Order: sequence, then structure tokens, then C-alpha cells
Amino acid sequence: AGFEEAGLVEAVLRNVARCGYDCPTPVQRYSMPIVLGGRDLMACAQTGSGKTAAFCLPVISGLVAADADAAAGGNKDAFGYDDYTRAARPRALVLAPTRELAAQIHEEAKKFSHQTGIKVKVAYGGTSMIQQLRDIERGVDILVATPGRLVDMIERGRVSLEAIKYLVMDEADRMLDMGFEPQIRKIVDGMGMPRKSMRQTMLFSATFPPQIQRLASDFLSKYIFITV
Ligand code: AMP
Repeated sequence: AGFEEAGLVEAVLRNVARCGYDCPTPVQRYSMPIVLGGRDLMACAQTGSGKTAAFCLPVISGLVAADADAAAGGNKDAFGYDDYTRAARPRALVLAPTRELAAQIHEEAKKFSHQTGIKVKVAYGGTSMIQQLRDIERGVDILVATPGRLVDMIERGRVSLEAIKYLVMDEADRMLDMGFEPQIRKIVDGMGMPRKSMRQTMLFSATFPPQIQRLASDFLSKYIFITV
């Protein structure tokens, strides 16, 4: 099966074609129907397997479809911004271990969001937070972030996760190796318990040791496990 059969919205399919992707990789072929079907996902996949598109495409497609529904119903909650608290309010969060990976995911997600109205922004440490916040506060649908910088922004009240519909953890085993488990738990626990069933969560990891199994059972609900 190709990308056309996966159930992605037209605008996203056009971007896939524009990127020159003819045929989905195995992790893409398995992930897309699971995520588009509303299920949580635990995926064991290596770097280079095409996992970035595997989570970006169905998430962007889902957001575009939600916006189309909202526009048809006459209530587009457009700006990813809380008028009351003034915190930026993304609808999708992608956590990544390093700024290099976050930057790479950001670039790829922007290509797939071309002409969809979906805004992808990035937050990582080691560089000016002011600049990143300025960009995020101009509108954000998908936020790609490293855990430490995101915790900082949340604690300053500049980013709120109360509107998160999609949570992706990429290279989860590497995030744990780097000691990010406390930050990750703080971020996810801060979304509140009822959220576990309201959001859709995808966990990507190259390996599936007990520590990752625990994250999966804590953060995912009735998930589908795939390994490629
Ligand atoms: P990733 O594993 O997401 O880092 O992707 C590895 C590389 O494969 C990246 O350069 C992608 O742009 C490329 N790629 C991912 N999926 C496809 C595909 N379906 N067709 C062609 N190239 C792809």
C-alpha cells in the first residue's frame, strides 16, 4: 500500500509527494493507520527507519481534519493561544532528546505542514529562549521540544499543555539514558490524569527495556505495539 491508501488528508498527501516520498517505509506503513485510527502506539524503530514521517504525517493530518471540522462548525480556535493566561497552547507535542534531533524533526514537520495552516515551532536549550518564545507566541500547533527547555517554559507560564491532543516521545530510550525521566514525567503528569484517555500518545524507541516498558504502561492507554 502507498501513501494514498493511508487515509491522510489531501494537503498532506501533496506535501509527501513534494518531498519525493513515493512509497512508505515499514514503520510508516504500520504507524499511519494506527494513529489515524485514534489508537496509542509503542513503536520500536531505529534512526533512519523513517519514523519522523511515521508520526508527523498522521498528526498533521489529524490536526488539519480537526480544523476543517471546526471551520465547518463555525468555531475555529485558531491561534494556539490562551487569551486568559496568555500562554502558548500547542495541540501536539513532540519530545526529543537533543537539539539536533529536535531541529531535524522541526524541519521535516514544516515541510509536511506546507500550505496546511499548521504551525510547527521548536524549543531547545543552549540558545536564546526569548527568541524561541517570540516565535512560539506568534502561533503554534505542533511544538517540538527537548524536555529541559520545555519544563523551563512551562514553569515560566509561557507554554501550556492543556490543549494537547497528540503527544509523541521520540528516541525515548535515549531521553532516559540522558537522564530526562524526571522532566518527562513532570511534563506528562502536568497534563493531568484525565488527559491520558483524551490525548493520543506515541512512544518511539530503538529498544524496549523495562524502563521503557514502564513509561509505556504509565503514559499510553490500550496501545498497539509494533516493531520494525
Ligand atoms: P528518519 O528515520 O525519520 O530520520 O528518516 C531517515 C531519512 O529517510 C530521512 O532523510 C527522510 O527524509 C527519509 N525518508 C523517510 N521516509 C521516506 C520515504 N517514505 N521515502 C523516501 N525517503 C524517506
